[in-house]
Amino acid sequence: RLILDGVEKSFHGAPVVKGLNLTIEPGEFVALLGPSGCGKSTILRMLAGFENVSGGQIIHGDDCLSSSTRHVPTEERNFGMVFQSYALWPHMTVKENVGYPLKVQKTPVAERNKRIKDALEIVQLEEYADRLPAQLSGGQRQRVALARSLVTEPDVVLFDEPLANLDRHLRATMEETFRAFHKRTGATMVYVTHDQSEAMSLADKIAVLNKGQLVQWGTPQELYARPRNTWLANFIGRGS
Ligand code: ATP
Ligand code: MG
Repeated sequence: RLILDGVEKSFHGAPVVKGLNLTIEPGEFVALLGPSGCGKSTILRMLAGFENVSGGQIIHGDDCLSSSTRHVPTEERNFGMVFQSYALWPHMTVKENVGYPLKVQKTPVAERNKRIKDALEIVQLEEYADRLPAQLSGGQRQRVALARSLVTEPDVVLFDEPLANLDRHLRATMEETFRAFHKRTGATMVYVTHDQSEAMSLADKIAVLNKGQLVQWGTPQELYARPRNTWLANFIGRGS
């Protein structure tokens, strides 16, 4: 399991994440939901190892990944990541983009090709393997980025507003892809969004954040049936 234990983050003395406690079970699909500036991306960046923690600790299984005295580098965490700007290499084909993390890990070619094929099958892009990113739609590029994030078979995949640039129709299609991806891989997914309906429809559990603090942690049903305060009721669209 993945544990955030009293995690704090400040930038130049200004607190951005305050005493965050969360325990995420293996295979859970968790959404971090909250308004712009509440600290969602910062939390994800600490999980990814791009930022250290100012206080508390992050624990994965038996390993402490981050604390005041410890910082496991990003490369050693084997977390998959899909960020909003899903930068693909423009000069590489779909296949090459997806296989790139395996090349870096020096995975043998036969194994590499098998994993690329599996990953492209999950996101339903087998027929596009030899295209360049410029020859794809936005949603297809997004799926290439998703395939690339799962090709190393990570236990945990981090998503930062992965659908933010897509139109409504594509979002619906991509939500399906995320569900299929989660089912197929059984990976733990931590999914940042400011979109309530996206969080409600995708996640097993939702952590609602406001101003760097956890407002509520529960299933979509619990949040909807028993929002802890009026702010949350309004935020999830139940306010009067
Ligand atoms: P959005 O939905 O707009 O992406 P967010 O919830 O992801 O918002 P964060 O990016 O985590 O918000 O930022 C939280 C706060 O921390 C903001 O006030 C932001 O200005 C501040 N912040 C983030 N990164 C830094 C940094 N490197 N230096 C200083 N302040 C930062
Ligand atoms: Mg953000």
